Amino acid sequence: MRLLDPSQEPLPETIWCEYCGGGCEIRGGVPDFSGSSKPPSLWYVYFRGDGCEYQRFCPFLFEYFATAKFFCAIYEIKPKCCWEFDREECEFLQKDVARERAERSRVSGS
Ligand code: SF4
Repeated sequence: MRLLDPSQEPLPETIWCEYCGGGCEIRGGVPDFSGSSKPPSLWYVYFRGDGCEYQRFCPFLFEYFATAKFFCAIYEIKPKCCWEFDREECEFLQKDVARERAERSRVSGS
């Protein structure tokens, strides 16, 4: 994605993704990059979930011009675990987040 002036590439139109970035939490996965070039070794550490004690979201998750919409800065070369995150998983995660919020407000309201 080209971000610098004068080119400000729009976010692609998608059928279901709302660019919330919620799926890009670091939870530890197999750092399986399929491209022909090998990413820096630190990337493997991140995707394994090690060394991210103080960081909840992936460092490659960028916000699109203060719009609260997020995109992957390494989209073309992201690891297999990211490619496998699909609509079904997204919907499951959204329901989980909604459940957590409801639980939190129930606990704080009582
Ligand atoms: S590499 Fe991209 S898709 Fe994968 S978690 Fe990071 S920002 Fe999200």
